[in-house]
Amino acid sequence: MPDAARSLLQEPRPVTVLPGVGPKLAERLARLGIYTAEDVLLHLPLRYQDRSRITPISGLVAGAEAQIEGEIVGSEVTERGRRFLLCTLRDLTGELTLRFFHFSPAQRQLFGQVGARLRCFGEVRQGYTSLEMIHPECRRLDGDSPPVSDQLTPVYPSTADLQQFTLRALTDQALILLDTAALLPEWLPPALRLQLQLMSVAEAVGFLHRPPSDAPVAELDSGRHPARRRLAFEELLAHQLSLRQLRERVRQQAAPPLLGDGGLSQRFLERLPFALTGAQQRVLAEIAADLTQPRPMQRLLQGDVGSGKTVVAAAAALRAVESGGQAVLMAPTELLAEQHYRNFQDWLGGLGVEIAWLTGRLLGRARKALLERLASGAVQVAVGTHALFQESVVFADLALAIVDEQHRFGVHQRLALRDKGRQGQRCPHQLIMTATPIPRTLAMSAYADLDTSVLDELPPGRRPVKTVAVPDHRREEVIERIRQACRGGRQAYWVCPLIEESEVLECQAAAVTAERLTAILPELRVGLVHGRQSAADKETVMATFKAGGLDLLVATTVIEVGVDVANASLMIVENAERLGLAQLHQLRGRVGRGATNSSCVLLYRPPLSQIAYARLSTLRECNDGFEIARRDLELRGPGEVLGTRQTGGQSLRVADLLRDQDLLNAARYAADRLLRDHPDCVEPLIRRWIGVGARYGEV
Ligand code: ADP
Ligand code: MG
Repeated sequence: MPDAARSLLQEPRPVTVLPGVGPKLAERLARLGIYTAEDVLLHLPLRYQDRSRITPISGLVAGAEAQIEGEIVGSEVTERGRRFLLCTLRDLTGELTLRFFHFSPAQRQLFGQVGARLRCFGEVRQGYTSLEMIHPECRRLDGDSPPVSDQLTPVYPSTADLQQFTLRALTDQALILLDTAALLPEWLPPALRLQLQLMSVAEAVGFLHRPPSDAPVAELDSGRHPARRRLAFEELLAHQLSLRQLRERVRQQAAPPLLGDGGLSQRFLERLPFALTGAQQRVLAEIAADLTQPRPMQRLLQGDVGSGKTVVAAAAALRAVESGGQAVLMAPTELLAEQHYRNFQDWLGGLGVEIAWLTGRLLGRARKALLERLASGAVQVAVGTHALFQESVVFADLALAIVDEQHRFGVHQRLALRDKGRQGQRCPHQLIMTATPIPRTLAMSAYADLDTSVLDELPPGRRPVKTVAVPDHRREEVIERIRQACRGGRQAYWVCPLIEESEVLECQAAAVTAERLTAILPELRVGLVHGRQSAADKETVMATFKAGGLDLLVATTVIEVGVDVANASLMIVENAERLGLAQLHQLRGRVGRGATNSSCVLLYRPPLSQIAYARLSTLRECNDGFEIARRDLELRGPGEVLGTRQTGGQSLRVADLLRDQDLLNAARYAADRLLRDHPDCVEPLIRRWIGVGARYGEV
């Protein structure tokens, strides 16, 4: 195909090119993520109906969908409790009732015509006296029976205001364009398709929208049919390409090679009250090697809760400082930013490093002065929340940006943050840290643009947190445990997570709980921390708790990430059945940070749903964040694990990372080949699957 023709074909054709699609329908389609004619074809059926045969009424089975044909032998409108229309249909083998709860006068008239013949499709149910179909699709037959469909009938994911027949008509139109105007050109090179045994994209799409009646329905419904896998593969490939392209673009930027003499880092390590774990040493070496390069480091550091990522961050920051540059550490919450700041003060302050905390509380002149010291380079390491750094903060020479607790953000936010770090032509090195380990397959797909380091070893002496699930009518026993623990000089957390979709209510619930616990445990010093307190109040409470001035800290999930108080050995989580696995594991990670035995009590309100039961059991059995992440993926699905759901980011349309994980390696291999040998196919594939609107990280 000549280049000009190709590029013409690449132009996205809006869905309005299809006959019958006006602005109103286009708007409804947009809600399904359908913008172009190609999108119509990539909007695949959820399942299929078999209308390729007529089932005799005597052969019907309750619970299955079926198509029948028969003669109306009677109909009535009853008013028993609810008003409904009943119609009896008879064929040579038996009778069945059609039941309608709402109906138009025209329908009433139609079903009243005794002797008329109908063809109906619907789900068969066991009624009071006979089998029934509720609201079947019916069509009147005049004269000879028309032939039955020789294809399976697709059922599309849809919305309330979009009928299946509209979507079927639309796909009919788009399938014509597929044939006549090469709507979905093939971008996979023939050799690759041959090697991976992939059918053409047009063949796959045609098959999936209109499979022949003898197609294997079970295989189609389970998403394992080769046609569907062909498209899933291409989608995974497009995502790989998009992330790889992004990575390449970043790699082509200049970064300051950090070639300091290592003296500061050395002194830092010598002054630490502990020795680095083997894993920390290995990861630091990986980071240090990246930092000497004139290209930006793009590294993801995964380490379970408590594996000691902060020390690694500090050592990395020192690399920047000893090479004459600045470093910034960004945390998702003020609470965590402050804690990092204090840690850094402890560790680096004594080495003469200038550290600044950019907090929301710093206003007016003080804020201006700090920003000036950042811009002049007087501040060597800055700590703050992402939000604060998203504003207009200018650095003299930002060499390294560290993002903590990445799991709170989706892919798109991560990429947006990355851009914030850029200063002029130069791009700082980037270290992204997360405590939610991502299963390998997922990491390959969501973080294909990053190198990965893993802290797979906890500091010595840690003991697993003993976890129990307790129904909340046994709350008194739990309170007794707190009394015992605190009497022994330990501290405890009581977490009240969000149960209403409102922060106000969450904070109120925590305040009420704190009051009650204070009344029941008069000998204990009880503190309260929640998201609606002023930063100063939060800070005071946390500092008091950390210094041992409080025995019991009642908190909302603001303490979910990062908070580090080694003497706290007991955690109670209320309404644990409402929380996700990753979040519970994070919360539990607040204890078990010292050398004593710690426990976590998950209070739940029975009865437990099956999935809540599975979550609580997983936590009871398992302390390993990687294993928990794997099970989380099974329970929740990848969209949630990666945080795309919360952030409204785009998830996969056809592929399912769990079901199709065996395709990921092939997709990565194909991405290599395409980037090397067929670079002209890259852009169209990305555009087809990821679209122009939701492009990953504009660079
Ligand atoms: P996370 O990876 O969850 O961010 P932190 O960095 O908060 O973990 O570390 C948890 C605790 O372990 C901190 O109190 C930290 O000082 C301590 N720690 C980190 N590394 C070591 C080590 N090598 N030996 C002993 N304690 C360590
Ligand atoms: Mg941390």
